[in-house]
Amino acid sequence: MDKNAEIALKLQALRADYAARLPAEIQQLRSLVEHLTKPNPALQLDALNQLRQRLHKLAGSAGSFGFPELGKQAKKLELQTQAWIDSNQLDLGLVRVFAVAVAALDGLAQNDSPKKTPVVSQLAPLKTNTLIYVLEDDQDIADEVCMTLRHFGHQVEHFSTIAAAEVEVLRRPPDFMICDIMFTEEGRETPEAVAIMQQQLPVPIPVIFVSTRTDFDAYHAAVRAGAVGYFVKPLDIIRLVDCFEYYLDRNRSAPHRVLIIDDDLELAEHYKLVLSSADIRAEVINNPREIFEKLQDFHPELILLDINMPGCNGAELAQVIRLNQDWLRIPITYLSSELDEEKRANAMGRAGDDFLSKPMGDRELVTAVSVRAARSRQLSDALDRDSLTGLLKHSRIKEQVDVELSRAIRSGENLSLVMLDLDHFKQVNDTYGHPAGDKVIKAIAHLLRQRLRKSDAVGRYGGEEFVAVLPRCGRDEALALMEDVRQRFGEITFTVDQRSFNVTLSVGIAAYREGVVRAEQLLHEADAALYRAKAEGRNRICI
Ligand code: GH3
Ligand code: MG
Ligand code: MG
Repeated sequence: MDKNAEIALKLQALRADYAARLPAEIQQLRSLVEHLTKPNPALQLDALNQLRQRLHKLAGSAGSFGFPELGKQAKKLELQTQAWIDSNQLDLGLVRVFAVAVAALDGLAQNDSPKKTPVVSQLAPLKTNTLIYVLEDDQDIADEVCMTLRHFGHQVEHFSTIAAAEVEVLRRPPDFMICDIMFTEEGRETPEAVAIMQQQLPVPIPVIFVSTRTDFDAYHAAVRAGAVGYFVKPLDIIRLVDCFEYYLDRNRSAPHRVLIIDDDLELAEHYKLVLSSADIRAEVINNPREIFEKLQDFHPELILLDINMPGCNGAELAQVIRLNQDWLRIPITYLSSELDEEKRANAMGRAGDDFLSKPMGDRELVTAVSVRAARSRQLSDALDRDSLTGLLKHSRIKEQVDVELSRAIRSGENLSLVMLDLDHFKQVNDTYGHPAGDKVIKAIAHLLRQRLRKSDAVGRYGGEEFVAVLPRCGRDEALALMEDVRQRFGEITFTVDQRSFNVTLSVGIAAYREGVVRAEQLLHEADAALYRAKAEGRNRICI
């Protein structure tokens, strides 16, 4: 059975369990209501508190399990109990009305509309060879963009008129488009034409626009045409390619990680399944005391936090998390059926970043979580990554060596560590200028990201020195991979003021074997191999 069908079945089973338990739950509520009429204030208060708690839980969960009306009604009744608790008095006349309403929940628990099948999204298969159309009337720019993209292994077609592109886009839609904002003979502008093409396609194509224009109307038109990027000329091609790769990466990168903290385990399980159907990894805890351990192991990119929980409530837990600097970057979103404005404001004021309301539809949940987790990853990456190259910073890549070494020790799997340094780079700077040197650094960074797998990590270790950690990759594989990188890099021709040049690189590789326990040891071995590669004449790899 495929993953989605399996998730759909689990969701159904969860819903069936929930529906089966509802009558007993409502029976419980009814007997608690009876206590309200007993002439014993202590008993009354206890019953009221229990009622409030149970109704609150029902209000939060019923909608997600296919009983929206039941959920709404439970919310109303919960608010009534809250009012009684707050005012500290019970009106027996109202209690009778209340009892009738509680009894009527039974009907809602049976007759509610059957829930539509849950969202189980179909994930698009991964594409390796990306087809890109470049629509650009300036031949020089077109040549440079096309050459660079081809160098990084993409399939590129160039069009110099809108009309020619239109035909091809509809006949064979590309994965991506890069378009200049230009006028055609009919006075149309590219964004308009692209917007019309998009409407005729089953799935819109992501587009990057390039232009000399910086006015609002140009940006606005680009957005309407499906822009995911906008670059002003003169073009920084490497940045453009980065934007493009970032976008593709976003669609094929590791699943987002979300931690759900809720005392209603069944509801949390439902959320988890719904999220996993959209390829989001969710984990659940219902005991706040497990929080540190979970944050440490799971590294969530978003925390979904219930507010009303016994023991340690959501706002307190959010504060506990915020007291720890290590978790500063993880956004905390309350997910609660709390309607009281005061309480919501209070929770937000104490800690936490935003608020989602239960009940939450499946599709809404998936979207709300995806955008928040994606934003969180983007910001977190910005903190961890070097601004020139987008690679991990020195300290982060060292951490990654540690993480992967521990994993290799535990699993006994292969691990290779690569250290790479540009040859005679000082001369490049001296001859062609520092900006040219930067261009070369960006190009190698880009090539490394391009050639390595998703599970590999690459960092800028020093100015023109790079480290890559390759889990589950033995020495021969690492050698073949780096040989490919070395050759491809050497073939890239850089041009500055009509002067062309090439740059080579040297590589040292260290492979993990039993007995190695410290990351420093591997780093030292890779460094020694690199030193040897330099000493033996550069433009080569040593192990
Ligand atoms: P070798 O082949 O032995 O590695 O020689 P090299 O000239 O590459 O080595 P060296 O370490 O002496 O010089 C590295 C140069 O890299 C010096 C420094 O100015 C330059 N560099 C470091 N970071 C950057 C940067 O961000 N941008 C530019 N353009 N140059 C940088
Ligand atoms: Mg060097
Ligand atoms: Mg160096």
